[in-house]
Amino acid sequence: ESVVNRIAAGEVIQRPVSAVKELVENSLDAGSSSINVTVKDGGLKLIQVSDNGHGIRYKDLPILCERHTTSKLSTFEDLQSIKSMGFRGEALASMTYVGHVTVTTITEGQLHGYRVSYKDGVMEHEPRACAAVKGTQIMVENLFYNMTARRKTLQNAADDYSKIIDLLSRFAIHHINVSFSCRKHGAGRADVHSVATDARLNAIRSVYGVSVAHNLLEVEASDDDLSSSVFQMSGLISNCNFVAKKTTMVLFINDRLVDWTALKRALEIVYSATLPKASKPFIYMSIIVPAEHVDVNVHPTKREVSLLNQEIIIEKIQSVVESKLRSSNE
Ligand code: ADP
Ligand code: MG
Repeated sequence: ESVVNRIAAGEVIQRPVSAVKELVENSLDAGSSSINVTVKDGGLKLIQVSDNGHGIRYKDLPILCERHTTSKLSTFEDLQSIKSMGFRGEALASMTYVGHVTVTTITEGQLHGYRVSYKDGVMEHEPRACAAVKGTQIMVENLFYNMTARRKTLQNAADDYSKIIDLLSRFAIHHINVSFSCRKHGAGRADVHSVATDARLNAIRSVYGVSVAHNLLEVEASDDDLSSSVFQMSGLISNCNFVAKKTTMVLFINDRLVDWTALKRALEIVYSATLPKASKPFIYMSIIVPAEHVDVNVHPTKREVSLLNQEIIIEKIQSVVESKLRSSNE
């Protein structure tokens, strides 16, 4: 059974960056306003995510890492949001099958926190009282220690680290009311460092730099006249002065970080037709659709989505982007 669990877990957590994504999403779900990530050896030696969220109650610790254990299924609204998330209560459990997980947490009003380690879905020992500051710190050590083949395919720590940096950068420019940092273990300087702000441009400037932030156009689109296709998009897209080697597309649908290749391709086409010299855009978009319009992607690690009425939505966004680019280029 443990081999089966390990294989399943290896599907959920494919690389260090998959673990970081799950941990950071949990921190966001816990209402954190500050999330700090530390990484050693591209995440294989250590991933540590510290937040200042609501913490985990003592009584929840024994089952925290059991598969299918989630605290997020209480209301109908939550049931709908599963549809857009694809799966529930698998992430932490999976990490305990392929790494050493230690949780330190304190809830509101408690005098001390608790620390506990997990292996294969269960606590290794009773929770131990410890000093703790507000929130939760989760450490994942020796990821894939029991998956030799996986470790062999993940030998480029720099590559894994850059994927983690890329992930945190994306979170930071969407969740602008949250402070994020990401650094290598022992490093003083953070490689992602964003302070909570009210202005998205500030976040983009501190994460992606001045040359991106100074060359952005605001775009908005919605389509509420069609009863079958209700969506709202707002975003920031690069103008004719922004030149890059590759497209950066940061997309959140219903506040979840996703990939939507069809939209990315469609917008690249608009850019090369409209601004051939600036044909590799920087694009940030946030799209809101009814939860039931997001296709349930059964595979938990896939960021790729598909939406009901996607052709209509893509065409609408394409035309808004095209006219914005044309008018700013005149
Ligand atoms: P899910 O997020 O789908 O519920 P996870 O395996 O990612 O499943 O997490 C299991 C549970 O652990 C969550 O439902 C939540 O109750 C708790 N949890 C995990 N991380 C945190 C955190 N940083 N702060 C508070 N609670 C957390
Ligand atoms: Mg989760």
